Amino acid sequence: MSRKKLIAGNWKMNGLIADSATLAKEISLNVKNLKPNTEVLVCPPFTLLTTVKKALRGSKVMLGAQDCHIEEKGAHTGDISPYMLKDAGCEYVILGHSERRTDHKETNALVKAKAQAAIKAGLKVIICVGETLTEREAGKAFEVTEKQIKGSLPNESTAANTVIAYEPVWAIGTGKTATPADAEAVHAHIRKVLVQKCGKAIASRMRILYGGSMKPANAAELLAQENIDGGLIGGASLKSADFTAIIETAK
Ligand code: PEP
Repeated sequence: MSRKKLIAGNWKMNGLIADSATLAKEISLNVKNLKPNTEVLVCPPFTLLTTVKKALRGSKVMLGAQDCHIEEKGAHTGDISPYMLKDAGCEYVILGHSERRTDHKETNALVKAKAQAAIKAGLKVIICVGETLTEREAGKAFEVTEKQIKGSLPNESTAANTVIAYEPVWAIGTGKTATPADAEAVHAHIRKVLVQKCGKAIASRMRILYGGSMKPANAAELLAQENIDGGLIGGASLKSADFTAIIETAK
């Protein structure tokens, strides 16, 4: 089953207007001749969505956000609704990132409700799962990711509106990367869980990204694995040369 590779940059809480416009412009120029089998997405903080959208005008690079609320509008101070993201030009939203699960105590049930709301608003969702170091060392990587997938994916999920990101928490921003074989083992397990959850036709088409210290030096090997359909990239997505180099390794 051939699945288009998706290379997504998660800018996290980084960037001011001037430098984000430059970064977005550089990325859009660098990927002018994007391979037909590769898609590129950048997910800046909320304050930069409009600036980045403008900087990406005329390019194939897509825009996404890093979180959303479950409601369309209302009394939720400090929150952003999926409809606002759609209105700002977003195509995707990242949900359930481990930093949100930790910093904001987001549960699988909340991630699922957010995903439902985002899909209803016409967004595609990237749902993040991944085990901590303690869980990995206890041999629980499969069990933890399985529970997260089953609890976080809404029934509305299809291969067209949902992407999974497997991000081992111990590999995020640490410089430690899962070996391609270890990452592939979890990705293959996630695909099996997706078959149970969504059926074979959807599961075989749904993309599963790897995230956790992906960089130009390790991207090619990771992206060559059968069930690794792209990357969710933090640190390296903030440098246009590194992000571009990763995109170029995707086949
Ligand atoms: C992330 O947080 O999504 C991520 C993968 O970060 P990094 O690439 O910096 O490990």
